Amino acid sequence: MNIINGILISEKIKQEVFIQVLELKKTYGISPSLSVILVGDDPASSIYVRTKEREANKLGMHSKLIKLYSDATEEEIINQVHMLNADSSVHGILIQLPLPAHINEQHITEAINPLKDVDGLNPFNMGLLASGNPRFVPATPLGIQQMILRSGYDFKGKHVVVLGRSNIVGRPISNLLSNKSDGGNATVTLCHSYTNNIDEICKSADILIAAIGIPNYVKSHMITNRTIAIDVGINRVDDINAKKGYKLVGDIDYNNVFNKVAAITPVPGGVGPMTIAMLLENTLKATLLHVEN
Ligand code: NAD
Repeated sequence: MNIINGILISEKIKQEVFIQVLELKKTYGISPSLSVILVGDDPASSIYVRTKEREANKLGMHSKLIKLYSDATEEEIINQVHMLNADSSVHGILIQLPLPAHINEQHITEAINPLKDVDGLNPFNMGLLASGNPRFVPATPLGIQQMILRSGYDFKGKHVVVLGRSNIVGRPISNLLSNKSDGGNATVTLCHSYTNNIDEICKSADILIAAIGIPNYVKSHMITNRTIAIDVGINRVDDINAKKGYKLVGDIDYNNVFNKVAAITPVPGGVGPMTIAMLLENTLKATLLHVEN
């Protein structure tokens, strides 16, 4: 059984990005710049945003956090996005999700300049990915693809089962891995809350990607000894022994499947750090698009 270490792989990718950031600075005299909009004060979102800022700075990138109150209107958020679109010193724009319930996420992501859309959620970029010509792909799917490839596995001809159809994970990973391209060519089954016979479908997977937000949902009867299990879920569950009173667990019951799977990603230390590394790679890509245009 192989534990796929997202921390180690993400460090390698960040090192590669760092070298390219240095080259960019030498050649064009600019450093990538990422602006993040955070609406409200959700504690988990605030932690994610701080981590993204810190990691960007470590790689020599600029990062700017724009904080808006939780009662900000759609118009206020869109105005902020338009200002960042118009600012040529900003290369990448990210809206931290989820947004408060009164905001329509689609309206906000539509407002982002597709050339600065480092989260890949603007419909134009989603369309490019769906039509087999990806430009900006959401960071979590990219991270999953990289962690599997860099662990020596391949997707070609494999049956990949994805649990969850969110725009940020499930849907884009199903497009990415089924595209006719290197790192693709898989046969993908996308499961969601209305899927019948989900246990049987999971069992037929070579690679099982769980992104549903239900703690410990996948159990050993849903996998085989050839399953590569990728756990995207980040769920807080009560834990009286933990200092904070909770611990993080994934959507896959790690202890329950551990002895059976061929490979697995832990939570934390799996997909999470990969997501940050790929966001930074997307920010570098946006900066390269800026200097080349
Ligand atoms: P979401 O929470 O927006 O939606 C959940 C999805 O799961 C829906 O598409 C729904 O149809 C599906 N679903 C719900 N119950 C199901 C069931 N019983 N069987 C099959 N499908 C079911 O999805 P999300 O935003 O992709 O988040 C999923 C999980 O991944 C969350 O725990 C989130 O915190 C985590 N996440 C982690 C990262 C990371 O970097 N590691 C990034 C994004 C999301």
